[in-house]
Amino acid sequence: MINVDEFRFNSGRIALDLPATVRRRASEPQDVLAPSGAPARWLRDAGLSHELLALSPEQTSDLEKLREAIWAVADAAAAERDLPADAVATLNEMAALPLAVPKLDAKSVTVKLFADDPFQTALATIARDAIDLLGSPLRTRIKACEQPDCRMLFLDTSRSSRRRWCSMDRCGSRAKGAAFRARNRQDAHEH
Ligand SMILES: [Zn+2]
Repeated sequence: MINVDEFRFNSGRIALDLPATVRRRASEPQDVLAPSGAPARWLRDAGLSHELLALSPEQTSDLEKLREAIWAVADAAAAERDLPADAVATLNEMAALPLAVPKLDAKSVTVKLFADDPFQTALATIARDAIDLLGSPLRTRIKACEQPDCRMLFLDTSRSSRRRWCSMDRCGSRAKGAAFRARNRQDAHEH
């Protein structure tokens, strides 16, 4: 059964969707990739594999390694700190893995992608997206959600560059609700 709420793909980039699989990093971290089979489901739901891959423990740990490397580098970028060299080295290493090869079919004029190792291709795709993002001026638009217990990283693509929360439904409405209650308490106090 597919649980539609299992994963979130709302960070604005696939590279940031991966570290977002650890929720509430700043308070009580919850790893949504921890349940059995979750990493393969995430790769499929992210559109990085057509079907569920049977991942070995080593492959699962490689995906976690990439996730933590992206987190370390993107978090440093969001906070305008120097990028951690070891995490950057992991991104570069994984970006060098083979990508899928596109083949054009003359008759149907469609493109099909062929990957010898779909898992490695998925890692390379995510790592390249991370490098592309972090090496571009968009880096300055990587932000951490303002809810102190969330801190999910996202790419602010709003025109005003004033987005504050990972999502309005979740953290935004929680923050506004808390501000409203605080205001009400203040009013009650004043009257
Ligand atoms: Zn949030």
